[in-house]
Amino acid sequence: MFDKVLIANRGEIALRIHRACQEMGIATVAVHSTADEDAMHVRLANESVCIGPPASKDSYLNIPAIIAAAEITGADAIHPGYGFLSENDKFSEIIAEHNIEFIGPSADHIRLMGDKISAKETVKKLGIPVVPGSDGEVHEIKEAIKIAKSIGFPVIVKAASGGGGRGMKVVHSQNELENAIMSCKKEAGVSFGDDAVYLEKYLTLPRHIEFQIIADKHGNVCHLGERDCSLQRRHQKVLEEAPSPALNEEEQARMGEVVRKAIQGLGYVGAGTIEFLYENGEFFFIEMNTRLQVEHPITEMITGIDLVREQIRVAAGMPLSFSQEDVKFSGHAIECRINAEDPFTFMPSPGRIGDYHTPGGLGVRVDSGIYSGYNIPPYYDSMIAKLIVHGKTRNECLMRLRRALGEYVIDGIKTTIPLHQALIRETDFINGAYDIHWLENYLNNLD
Ligand code: ADP
Repeated sequence: MFDKVLIANRGEIALRIHRACQEMGIATVAVHSTADEDAMHVRLANESVCIGPPASKDSYLNIPAIIAAAEITGADAIHPGYGFLSENDKFSEIIAEHNIEFIGPSADHIRLMGDKISAKETVKKLGIPVVPGSDGEVHEIKEAIKIAKSIGFPVIVKAASGGGGRGMKVVHSQNELENAIMSCKKEAGVSFGDDAVYLEKYLTLPRHIEFQIIADKHGNVCHLGERDCSLQRRHQKVLEEAPSPALNEEEQARMGEVVRKAIQGLGYVGAGTIEFLYENGEFFFIEMNTRLQVEHPITEMITGIDLVREQIRVAAGMPLSFSQEDVKFSGHAIECRINAEDPFTFMPSPGRIGDYHTPGGLGVRVDSGIYSGYNIPPYYDSMIAKLIVHGKTRNECLMRLRRALGEYVIDGIKTTIPLHQALIRETDFINGAYDIHWLENYLNNLD
């Protein structure tokens, strides 16, 4: 097992990784920007190294600075968390060149899945159903029109290297297609350094359902069931639940097995998420994330498995600590992403936290690095906390979530807690009757 792990991230996920390491007897190194000197994970880590100024490109994305920090402190592994360098194949490669273990999949698998076109082609061959669309990149408008007509409008133009809900354009008719492709290409070139785009059927009423998998270096792969992440704003997740209210146990087991087999066929190692759109009882693959997800705790709550611990174990060459038969799903879990934003206009609200009180009690978990007196820097993602609640049934979970949201006090800044409080009182949400467009419609109707 590793002696020392460097955490190449910030915020709640840095703390989450630190906690797993401490419980495994592993020392931690926090790397941080000058804006994060007072961060909780920096205070708690065994060692810390400042790697640059606030801008992410100069600190959390600064590969030479992070490698130097690992060398100086003698870390034998690096956990990238999510976002930042977590899906950067070069980073994984450079780490390996320095004889440090990357806690994640191989550079080849990151590259393969980082390009959504090659990802789709790959999983299709492995027996996973994909969204109908162009076979690969679209180069010419004539070709695009032909494909769009054959799959039928609406279609969605997507950047092969897109991420974070960016680089997508919905097209309702033929005369909008050329403009959409040109603007998507331009945006993709600027934002992702790759202007390849492809076409997909735009599904109008789907749910976003994703499967968690974890694989070791000995060929063992397990799926840990699904998460429903249909509540989204601008293609970004707001609240997630597991299991999905739309699936029964047979559907979960059947699709889990399809995914498990495919990932085994791929020879993949580490944690990963296969994302699907689910409509009329059918699954359609959209992408695979080759890292830990923000919403991983709801899977941990219903399985009792510590995903970060397993990630560290498999990176160190140990076998998974359980087999598929050992994975038992128990109860229901919901996660609310709490952002430092106005709950209804979503204007960022960084600043100093005044009074701070977290909810507690049975089945309540708060993953967050904030505390009273902490200054939320304006430079990074606005998510400051995740409230995760577990109950024996979905209804118990909802009642507990309502109670926990009511207890949560974060003074001094605006947060999205009031949005979550409103959402979970909506009849559609209570009935589990929502698709990926539900939240946008709900927000539009509030004005
Ligand atoms: P990203 O990598 O930016 O997260 P994804 O491919 O995972 O992009 O898609 C994010 C979200 O965009 C999905 O959860 C869904 O809401 C929407 N989306 C993507 N593809 C389609 C599609 N073919 N039809 C309808 N919605 C889609």
